[in-house]
Amino acid sequence: MIRRLLEAASSRWAARGPQVRGCSMVDGLYLRADGELPCWCGPGEVIVHARLALGSVPASPQDLAPIRAVRRAFAEGRLPFPGTCEGCQVLGTRPARELRERRSRLDELHVEPSWLCNLGCAMCPPDNGARGELRDHDHLDPALLIELLDALLAGGVGVIRSVRFEGKGDPCLNPRLEELIRATRARYPQSYLVLTTNGSFPLRSDLAHCGLDHADISADGFTQASYGQYRKRGNLKRVKAFAEDLTSRGLSVGWKYILMPWNDGEDELLSCLEWCRARDIQLELRLTHSAEASERWDWPRLQAWVAPREGVIARRTLAHAKAG
Ligand code: SF4
Repeated sequence: MIRRLLEAASSRWAARGPQVRGCSMVDGLYLRADGELPCWCGPGEVIVHARLALGSVPASPQDLAPIRAVRRAFAEGRLPFPGTCEGCQVLGTRPARELRERRSRLDELHVEPSWLCNLGCAMCPPDNGARGELRDHDHLDPALLIELLDALLAGGVGVIRSVRFEGKGDPCLNPRLEELIRATRARYPQSYLVLTTNGSFPLRSDLAHCGLDHADISADGFTQASYGQYRKRGNLKRVKAFAEDLTSRGLSVGWKYILMPWNDGEDELLSCLEWCRARDIQLELRLTHSAEASERWDWPRLQAWVAPREGVIARRTLAHAKAG
């Protein structure tokens, strides 16, 4: 039955022809801490197109055969991985592009600096979260990223619009994070470099001076009780000090706040907004479409709340938008 439904969904996509939209794989690459180049986001991450190893990164990695096959499928109006793509959050976020032999531009390079995490959030996949032991390749080796960037440059990719340092683990657990960012800035000086971290770390002042454009701090709540309900083992005091230190050093900082039933009271949101405003930090209130989503806020109500207020924006996950 499920198979028949998936086949029907795939043929609906095929029937829509070349106007079918693609996904982040069309003009992006995702490098995991262990060197894998997988699909992006959610169910797609189990599909690994290649694994890069130090000293043997192939020429023109943006055009490896499996990645070209993904683009070809979209350009021909097919889903590259029927049965998986349908559940992928990034499906429909990019136009399906014609294939070109040499790509001079990537829209986004997604880099996972570490596979380890210091927290244990409930929604994290069971194989993820706080891992006790450091294994080989848990942290991305800057030499591997440098080799990839050099191969992209040599392969004709002169522009990468944005590079996002984010992954299953928290980037700040990689002791060489600043090296990763500096190396990227040196090779792609025009790119927009963004870091996403939970921020529950001791101060790390070098982060503000290594070439980053922006840091997003993921912290859902503005009291320790509400924040810690989802961000297990997180310390809100530390998060605030971390964000405050970065912004005081001139780095652009955002506070990403997912609305859930225990953190969505108006008083708490106003306290957070006031604190953020005083430090020139932009607050992003986000609706999600998961089991733990806020019931108090729907998209029209959140937009109306945000509209007259400075320093706060509303966002929703793609899954939420699709469901709406
Ligand atoms: S939509 Fe399909 S091709 Fe694109 S990232 Fe997801 S699984 Fe991969």
